[in-house]
Amino acid sequence: MADFMGSKAYCCFKCQNLVAFHDDIVSKDFQATSGRAFLFSHAMNISLGEKEDRQLLTGLHTVADVYCSECGEELGWKYIKAYEESQKYKEGKIVLEKFKIVVRGGNIIKNNIENNYYDDD
Ligand SMILES: [Zn+2]
Repeated sequence: MADFMGSKAYCCFKCQNLVAFHDDIVSKDFQATSGRAFLFSHAMNISLGEKEDRQLLTGLHTVADVYCSECGEELGWKYIKAYEESQKYKEGKIVLEKFKIVVRGGNIIKNNIENNYYDDD
């Protein structure tokens, strides 16, 4: 439990619902259509939308939108299936858009604030 309290975590920007741990970040340099995003190996306190096939920058994927389970805000998406061999590593992983999440205990981060905010570890 001490470790739990000590690790950096991310919350929904609207309601501060805890959604993911810093330790579960797979990539911090993930490109979403609306800006940068983080790729997480898993997340919590989220709900998933309908699965659908979507053509992304990196090819065709089956994805489901990810919503905050508390306030219902759309936070990103989950990769259900990747069709390209090189993208298979993303299956089951979750993308949270950077401007939709905040560091736990931190202030709400505006979309135009420097990326450096997150790179202090
Ligand atoms: Zn929320």
